[in-house]
Amino acid sequence: MTEQASRRGLMLVFCAPSGAGKTTITRQLLEKDHKISLSVSATTRESRPGEDEGTHYFFKSVDEFKHMIADDELLEWAEVFGNYYGTPMAPVEKALSEGHDVLFDIDWQGARQLREKGGDDVVSVFVLPPSSGELERRLRDRGQDADDVIMKRMAKAGAEISHWEEFDYVLINDDLERCLADVEHIIGAERVKRARQTGLPGFVKKLLTD
Ligand code: 5GP
Repeated sequence: MTEQASRRGLMLVFCAPSGAGKTTITRQLLEKDHKISLSVSATTRESRPGEDEGTHYFFKSVDEFKHMIADDELLEWAEVFGNYYGTPMAPVEKALSEGHDVLFDIDWQGARQLREKGGDDVVSVFVLPPSSGELERRLRDRGQDADDVIMKRMAKAGAEISHWEEFDYVLINDDLERCLADVEHIIGAERVKRARQTGLPGFVKKLLTD
């Protein structure tokens, strides 16, 4: 891996319609790259089988969530499919200031808010499914949601996809391995951007004087 001067952490924002394969890509990325941690969102939706408190989400009541908004504890929040979702601010700020990258698995509304707040720290990636047929098949294969929920999500997918032009990078997920490799290349390049390596002036000075 390329040697880097100390740097600020990246805010890696991943968006996609449900079923595009975003969760699989981000999970594999987190397993391979230990410099990235996942921002765990708060949500008012019911937990699904296999989801753990504090690992997948912080499950909150609507009242608790509204208190988090009022107390300015959230970096961004949005209503998605009738539930509230939001990003707790404190863990993100800690990670970034320590030079760790943070990955956000959020919707386009949250991505927009992060871009406004995070500026140059934000690197945004949109993941598209290869076709609408494949998208529906992937949603059905999950077998966790009722038909009407799947239909609702298919309908919402179009709305989510319509925001693809707001993103820095757009990947078509027809091949998981290639998609993951593309993500790793994006992150590798973003990490060595000059402006991001805050330790460079000191490093170069030492290089020239030692
Ligand atoms: P799910 O209920 O399937 O886990 O997530 C539904 C949608 O909510 C997905 O598009 C997901 O990216 C989005 N989402 C999850 N957490 C957050 C969050 O903290 N903020 C925002 N804005 N969207 C989120």
